[in-house]
Amino acid sequence: MENTNTLYQHGTLELLVDGLLDGTMTMKELLSHGNTGIGTGEGLDGELIILDGVAYQVDSHGKVNVVNDSFTMPFATVHQADFKDFIDVSNLLMSDFEKEIVNQANANNTFFAVLTTGTFKSIKTRAVAKSKKPYPTLVETAEKQSVFERENTTGTLLTYYSPELFNGVGVSGCHSHFLADDHQFGGHVLDFELEQGNSQLQILDTLIQHLPTDSTDYMQHNFDNSQTAEAIEKAEK
Ligand SMILES: [Zn+2]
Repeated sequence: MENTNTLYQHGTLELLVDGLLDGTMTMKELLSHGNTGIGTGEGLDGELIILDGVAYQVDSHGKVNVVNDSFTMPFATVHQADFKDFIDVSNLLMSDFEKEIVNQANANNTFFAVLTTGTFKSIKTRAVAKSKKPYPTLVETAEKQSVFERENTTGTLLTYYSPELFNGVGVSGCHSHFLADDHQFGGHVLDFELEQGNSQLQILDTLIQHLPTDSTDYMQHNFDNSQTAEAIEKAEK
C-alpha cells in the first residue's frame, strides 16, 4: 500500500482517447494501492467510484453494481483516504464549486482529492456502454453515452484535481464521480447544483503512474496522431 500522499494510477487518459480499452489491471490489484478512487472498466464499461475500499460501477443503464475482484480496467486512479477537514459548501453550481475548492485548497500545482457529502438540488451524470474490439475512440464512445439526471439527492462526490501539466495523463482540473446514498444513482459527473455539503481535502504530492506493459496493443501503439487535449475537452468535460 502506498502512503497517503500518493496517487496511484493505472493507464492514462490518452490511452482511452485512442481506444486502447483492454482491461489491463484487476480490481483486486488496484485496491491493493488504495481504498478510494475512480476509473472505468474494459471497453469503457461504466463509471467507477471506489469508496472505503468498495468499488461501485454505474453501468450504461444507470444501475449501480458492486464490482468483484476479477473486474478489469484500462484506466483507474486510487489513493488511500486520509481526508482532512476542509470547507462547508452551499448553493453552488458545479463550475462555482470547482472554483471554490481550487481557490480554497490553494494547491494548483499538485494533485488533490476532495470528498464531498451533501444534498444536491439536481445532478447530471453519464455512463458509457461497454464496447468490444475493435474499440472505438473515446470521443466516438462518449457520443453514445447515457445521461442521467436526478433531483434532491444525497450522496458522495469524489473529485480529483490534476495540474494542467498532467492533461492527457488524466483530466487536468477537476474530475468528479458520484454515488447516491441509496446506491440507485451515480456516474461521471457532468453538472450539478449543490444545496449544501461538507468537503474534505487530501493533498497528494506523489504520482505513481503504472503503465500496461503486458499489453502488446499498448506497447506497439503509435500515439503521434492522438488529439488528446481536444478529445478530453469533448469527452470528459
Ligand atoms: Zn470520469
